[in-house]
Amino acid sequence: MQAIWTLGSKGVAEHPPLVEDAEVDVAIVGAGITGLTAALPLAEAGLKVMVLEAGTVGGGATGGSTGNLYATLASGQAPLRHKWGDEVAAEVVRARTGAVDHVEALVQRFSIDCQFRRQPAYRLVTEERQHAGHDLNEELDALVSAGLDVEMVEESGLPFDSWGIRIAHQAQFNPLRYVEGLADALLGEGVLILQHSPVREIDADKGRLRTDTGSISAKHIIQATHTPKGISLVQAGMPVSREYAVSARLRSGDYPEGIFWVLDPFHSLRSYRHGDDHYLMVIGEKHPLGHHQVEAYRNLRDYLDARFDVESFAQQWSAQQYTSPDGLPYIGRMHGHDNLCMATGFAADGLVWGTLAGMIIADQVLERDNPWEARFGARRITPGKSARQYVKENVSVTKHMVKDYLGTEKLESVECIGPGQGRVATVDGEKLAIHRTEAGELKVLSAVCPHMKCIVHWNPSEASWDCPCHGSRFDTDGEVIEGPAYHSLAKCGGRD
Ligand SMILES: Cc1cc2nc3c(=O)[nH]c(=O)nc-3n(C[C@H](O)[C@H](O)[C@H](O)COP(=O)(O)OP(=O)(O)OC[C@H]3O[C@@H](n4cnc5c(N)ncnc54)[C@H](O)[C@@H]3O)c2cc1C
Repeated sequence: MQAIWTLGSKGVAEHPPLVEDAEVDVAIVGAGITGLTAALPLAEAGLKVMVLEAGTVGGGATGGSTGNLYATLASGQAPLRHKWGDEVAAEVVRARTGAVDHVEALVQRFSIDCQFRRQPAYRLVTEERQHAGHDLNEELDALVSAGLDVEMVEESGLPFDSWGIRIAHQAQFNPLRYVEGLADALLGEGVLILQHSPVREIDADKGRLRTDTGSISAKHIIQATHTPKGISLVQAGMPVSREYAVSARLRSGDYPEGIFWVLDPFHSLRSYRHGDDHYLMVIGEKHPLGHHQVEAYRNLRDYLDARFDVESFAQQWSAQQYTSPDGLPYIGRMHGHDNLCMATGFAADGLVWGTLAGMIIADQVLERDNPWEARFGARRITPGKSARQYVKENVSVTKHMVKDYLGTEKLESVECIGPGQGRVATVDGEKLAIHRTEAGELKVLSAVCPHMKCIVHWNPSEASWDCPCHGSRFDTDGEVIEGPAYHSLAKCGGRD
């Protein structure tokens, strides 16, 4: 299940793992768009920077995204304006416009071959959904009030009836190629990028990080891990969801150009060219983590089939989102530690938020003023704007805890778990995550998430164990794929 962006990817030069202790000015955990954007100004200012990446450069949400860059939010400008008022809604657009321009400037400066292109974004309704509560006039008004160049259009270039708002001068690129290009530039600046190096512990008091093979002392630590590792206050109110993508080749050769958000309900469409091959992709079927939709990929294929002249399907993949309770991301210094920064709560808009986060955090470390530091600060408390989501999210976590601990069925026999399937069951009072491989081997792990002791759920679409509480995901050997957990699921009868 590889994203379309991996086509033709050369990856980034590997550095041997750390074998002894190291000392740096800044340790950045995570080589997605956030971590690498932050690394560049820091290295250029002469600081010794090390990037530690659990997998490969861009292999997290950045490489699983749609590659759209826009100044508004995919969830709409009107809801943002409603929650925060005109002034803040316009600030968001200005900050995000600056971040898109920053991406464009870096692409040009380092000649990054990532197909960066200015494109319009469309927010569209279709005939069936025109009465479904989408107030396009309200959205148009909010976009105009925020200073965007917009117009109502009757046609969008899609081969089915749809109309709505066109936002001029947004952008698209290949997000994986972009961060690989940034990584190459960073290597040229002397930054150490260690891939396959998961950080297992961060001790901000002592300014130390530990990997499986060594430890690092750092004056500043940046958690560019999409959600902070370990236990953090911000996780309490942040729902986690997954969204799916499918790409296809069309017989007609008629590929729409632009960013298309179709509210029928929400599907995002765009095209992409790799060499002589042209693809259309659709993104959608979002659901809370742990509530699996076995049908997600099939539904997306059906969606394309019903609307386009599909010749064949190509890639399919999925990625994760964390949504903040007040609708704005958390960026910068964390509670209790001036040497520890984070960036999270990006929802579906994090290529731009991540770029902005990298710029803000680098300025904080370098003690430079940044106009957006206070607005998106990670220490802010906004009860009036976030209380409802905090309550909802904590009720949901508590419900999962109670339901999953009390409701997990007893397993009479493992024979009922077929090849490729997984099940959580109580065996001798212990909650176990049991998976049978396609080859028939049984893999048995503790079902207790090491992050905050919730019970993981089987994800049949991606063959992973997912924690519905705060977003940790584990592979069938129990190794952490993503999320706040530092450690793997305990092997049965033992602990990691
Ligand atoms: C389906 C989908 C489509 C999207 N499309 C768009 C879009 O078109 N436009 C947009 O603006 N946003 C989009 N987003 C959101 C966007 O992809 C993310 O918000 C953004 O990529 C986050 O970047 P990041 O660098 O913060 O995190 P990531 O890219 O996830 O990078 C974090 C890195 O940290 C690493 N890491 C984690 N734990 C450790 C550890 N212990 N040690 C070392 N490394 C670790 C991970 O391996 C990962 O590489 C989309 C999201 C989804 C789900």
